[in-house]
Amino acid sequence: MVWRLAAVSVLVLGLQGSPPAAVPDRDPKIVTLVAAVSQERLVAILKRLEAFQTRNTLSTVGSPTRGIGAAREWILGEMQSYSPRLQVSFDTYRLAAQGRITRDVEIRNVMAVLPGRSARRIYISGHYDTVAIAGGDAANPLRNAQGELLFADPDSPAPGVDDDGSGTALTMELARVFSQSGIDFDATLVFMCHVAEEQGLFGARLHAQKAAADHVAIEAVFNNDIVGGDRGGDGTADGATIRVYSEGPDDSPSRALARYVERWAARYVPSHRVRLMARPDRFLRGGDHSAYNEFGFAAVGFRESREDFSRQHSARDTFDDISPAYLTENARVNAAAAATLALAPPPPVVTTARGQPTLGRTPGAYDADLRWSASPGAAAYRIFWRPVWGPDWQHDLLVGNATEVVLPDMQIDDYVFGVAALDAAGHESYVSAYVEPPRQNPPIALAPEK
Ligand SMILES: [Zn+2]
Repeated sequence: MVWRLAAVSVLVLGLQGSPPAAVPDRDPKIVTLVAAVSQERLVAILKRLEAFQTRNTLSTVGSPTRGIGAAREWILGEMQSYSPRLQVSFDTYRLAAQGRITRDVEIRNVMAVLPGRSARRIYISGHYDTVAIAGGDAANPLRNAQGELLFADPDSPAPGVDDDGSGTALTMELARVFSQSGIDFDATLVFMCHVAEEQGLFGARLHAQKAAADHVAIEAVFNNDIVGGDRGGDGTADGATIRVYSEGPDDSPSRALARYVERWAARYVPSHRVRLMARPDRFLRGGDHSAYNEFGFAAVGFRESREDFSRQHSARDTFDDISPAYLTENARVNAAAAATLALAPPPPVVTTARGQPTLGRTPGAYDADLRWSASPGAAAYRIFWRPVWGPDWQHDLLVGNATEVVLPDMQIDDYVFGVAALDAAGHESYVSAYVEPPRQNPPIALAPEK
């Protein structure tokens, strides 16, 4: 069915669609889930992680109380205790010596899967490994005059409470809250504690590579790395915002996911503002979400509002620099957006099988004709648009259970369009935007010299 939107026809044709009856903007189940995030539990997890003294990927696995071996066993057991619905396991790889990995080593991500009705997956993640550089990041560059990488002994203190005990605690606490919520999610949720981030995102890259090879439908990755402190090393403080980084171009799935976080977190945690950052990560710095981007998945990176560089990657990254209330708000932002996305239908497909956008100028040559493939479970769709020169959607319209809409007299050259899928309760997917595929030019043929 086609919706033709014109001033005189909206009402008449509106009757042909079946938009959901008025539903509240907030789902009471999600309100309850967001409220269940416990500051007390986040603090307890952080203190327990700190007590392992180091979680360096190359630290000892022989001690029951210290080092990465003890830490990963504890994380595994803790997540197993949350709910029988959680499938908790190690995701293990044998890594050869390379770069900052100075010897062959077995590495283990710790993952907890909460099966949903469908196989599409939403990840919430952090990295549980830590690193300390002699002198901390202040001792940069990381290489000496001979070009050799500078390492502290991997068994020396590297508490990593903010980097990234904070993201690990957030991930674990959301594993508890989601698995105990009793909510029947459409998407499968994966709570992932990555390892070997500090040496080159190895845990995340190996997992993402495997997922891509196995055609796992990863729809979104919410990666949290350094999200527990709200006081900058320069003395500034900001406990009311969180930065969300995403790779471009403008309407990439990662950018759509970032806008989604801002749109939906605001409904449940209105006091905490999401600040969208139109770049993959902080300047010249990286994190595990980029590993998922590398293999074609939508992934964003959450970063605290202000950083204290003097503590990162040093023995000074301790609990006393954490703002528990701030970390709790950041966890709630993640929970609100991830729960909404996991209850929504998958985003509509707005391309042909050959990757061409299903956006045209018919019927009048100067109209916008938006078509998309129906999303399983969708009861309605919402279309979005904005002028091409603009970062955020400016207009949206609920259009019922259609798979085509015509917006008369709107030149598709001048606007970006997108569409999201909604279930009958109003849970909305992120927006699939109509974008031009990269132009592939054939090689230029030159005539032979005369
Ligand atoms: Zn980190």
